[in-house]
Amino acid sequence: MDFAPDADQLLLARRSHELGLALNAPDEHDDSGDPWFSRRKWRRCAEFGLLGLSVGERWGGLGLDSVSACTAIESFARGHADLGFVFSACAHTFACGMPIAEHGTEALRDEVLPKLVSGEWIAANAITESEAGSDVYAMRSAAVRDGDHYVLNGTKNYVTNAPLADVFVVYASTDPSSGYLGISAFVIPRHTPGVTVGAPLPKTGLISSPLAPVYFDDVVVPAENRLGGEGEGRAIFTGSMDWERTCLFAAYVGAMDRQLAATVAYTSERRQFRRPLARHQAVAHRLADMKLRLESARLLLYRACWSRDRGTATPLDVSLAKLAVSEAAKLNALDAVHLHGAMGVMAGSGVEQAIADAVPAAVFSGTSEIHRDIIAAQLRS
Ligand SMILES: Cc1cc2nc3c(=O)[nH]c(=O)nc-3n(C[C@H](O)[C@H](O)[C@H](O)COP(=O)(O)OP(=O)(O)OC[C@H]3O[C@@H](n4cnc5c(N)ncnc54)[C@H](O)[C@@H]3O)c2cc1C
Repeated sequence: MDFAPDADQLLLARRSHELGLALNAPDEHDDSGDPWFSRRKWRRCAEFGLLGLSVGERWGGLGLDSVSACTAIESFARGHADLGFVFSACAHTFACGMPIAEHGTEALRDEVLPKLVSGEWIAANAITESEAGSDVYAMRSAAVRDGDHYVLNGTKNYVTNAPLADVFVVYASTDPSSGYLGISAFVIPRHTPGVTVGAPLPKTGLISSPLAPVYFDDVVVPAENRLGGEGEGRAIFTGSMDWERTCLFAAYVGAMDRQLAATVAYTSERRQFRRPLARHQAVAHRLADMKLRLESARLLLYRACWSRDRGTATPLDVSLAKLAVSEAAKLNALDAVHLHGAMGVMAGSGVEQAIADAVPAAVFSGTSEIHRDIIAAQLRS
């Protein structure tokens, strides 16, 4: 196992970091119509290749493996302070672009992927329902086959990017009697009659990533817009989550790295009791613990990506990585705020936002309890 980045990965990391830094500047020319989300930043990311990191070059993507994609996202997020924006870009790229790239028909891939990679379209992944969160395959959404198309009905909730999305990857049951083996995945453009996006849901963390419910009312979906075969939705969703649980979570590794550097700088500069805070042992140990959590999580994440690239990754590898990164992000955010004292809890300081941004990481892509269940089940098998 060799995690040393090669020359291409080093260059990618440097350029991604520079892009992240460059996009921190306030966006005065944004034309998204959304108070938080920036279309202009979105287009800059597309030009760079960030919205199609692992999509094939044929569709305009960079065709990178997981380790390289992870490197790019980590470096971008280390430079870019708006984690909500990074989250939206990653949900688009990994939870939507990748299942289409891996399971769409040729015609569907040719039609949709270039628009996703170029940033012309924004994509959203819709699986969660109000009564089917962690127990996601208890979904009520159903798609009934009628000749060459399906008629899909259902309501999805907490759909990231939905307020701005041009296209949805939607999961629905095509055979309710078969439980999770009866789930299928569909690609549904927003303009399709019967698709309605609800009002954006205000949230405390990842603020610039818009989220909303989506309603599907007798939506006619051509059979060619199904991803994979009927009943393959669970496997397709799991595959897309493997991308998300590794490459999207690299954003939290990058954010933790930036946060730790800022906390070391602050505690080295601020003096109490005639010496820098960082020279007090209790403070120094807290910094050491932050570093330990960060590096442990990073190693598990890159090991999971490395195994995925070799086709040897197990659910254990991916769940260990996702759990480690999200729990480290929560604990490190608490420590960073604590070490900044009163300044750390001042609204707008930027330090306090890390807690609100980190908490959802242990909820989406499977909660920490669900990942502990997966890990424990793997240990028993
Ligand atoms: C910021 C954000 C973005 C999101 N984006 C999307 C998106 O783009 N698309 C989408 O489809 N969904 C999205 N979601 C929804 C997300 O996938 C769900 O919130 C998640 O699956 C958990 O479901 P829930 O919120 O209904 O919680 P619940 O399932 O109700 O869980 C509540 C609590 O109970 C615990 N719990 C549940 N079951 C068990 C169990 N068996 N054993 C032990 N504990 C258990 C959970 O771990 C959690 O702590 C997003 C959520 C957030 C917060």
